[in-house]
Amino acid sequence: MKGKTVFITGSSRGIGKEIAISFAKEGANIILNARSHVSEDVISEITSYGVQCAVVLGDVSQFDQAKEMIKTAHETFGSLDVLVNNAGITKDQLLLRMSEEDFDNVLNINLKGTFNMIRHAVPILLKQRSGSIINVSSVVGLAGNIGQVNYAASKAGIIGLSKAVAKEVAPRGITCNVIAPGYIDTDMTDILNEDVKKAMIDTIPLKRIGQAQEVAQAAVYLAKASYVTGQVLSVNGGMYM
Ligand code: NAP
Repeated sequence: MKGKTVFITGSSRGIGKEIAISFAKEGANIILNARSHVSEDVISEITSYGVQCAVVLGDVSQFDQAKEMIKTAHETFGSLDVLVNNAGITKDQLLLRMSEEDFDNVLNINLKGTFNMIRHAVPILLKQRSGSIINVSSVVGLAGNIGQVNYAASKAGIIGLSKAVAKEVAPRGITCNVIAPGYIDTDMTDILNEDVKKAMIDTIPLKRIGQAQEVAQAAVYLAKASYVTGQVLSVNGGMYM
């Protein structure tokens, strides 16, 4: 990974931040992203590993902003080697109460955002004849979940999208894979009440919540795995097999 450029969407906190740190430890230059702010603490943690770090703010759900972000990222370090589509949101509600707006928002950020970033990155990767795309799905995209019709649809969509992309770009030596995390300790899951958390842990064979670093390890593996493409790697403590 030394000297490679890795762009991680939604890397101001949580899983994306840990993915960025893991790639920095491997010697890669890092492009961080969020919609409006990335703290100085995150930037200085990345640069403490002796690599370069740039921030490209923007909303992945906006096609033109995605185009600008990829262009800026490519120009910043002169290459684009790994794209990790990690940015994602939840707007949970039972189907009968789910608004059209909450369905559209989740699909637009999670699924269309992934498409937008790949759509603009692929011309660069094709020209380069190398690169790795890693998309963050979820156990919910594989198994479904009550109250998450929008999120499950977006995360299952990412899997189909990734397999189609993998087939299209493979002739140029580019890989495209998916990580499907289970229940991971971040702001996204922190909002759940203690009873829900306990009930969830009971369903996990490894009997604990996962750490963002454990998802990050999978991202580094996939970026290096030159003969692995179109795959879904579950990082879920055995929650769904
Ligand atoms: P998180 O702590 O809520 O962080 C989400 C990140 O995405 C933030 O940096 C956020 O920054 C950014 N973001 C959100 N919308 C964005 C947009 N439109 N454009 C650019 N950046 C955006 O979430 P997390 O738990 O780390 O989750 C990361 C990914 O893993 C998500 O795709 C999530 O669905 C997936 N996942 C998480 C879990 C879990 O248990 N935590 C399990 C399975 C899958 P701003 O809000 O400042 O823009």
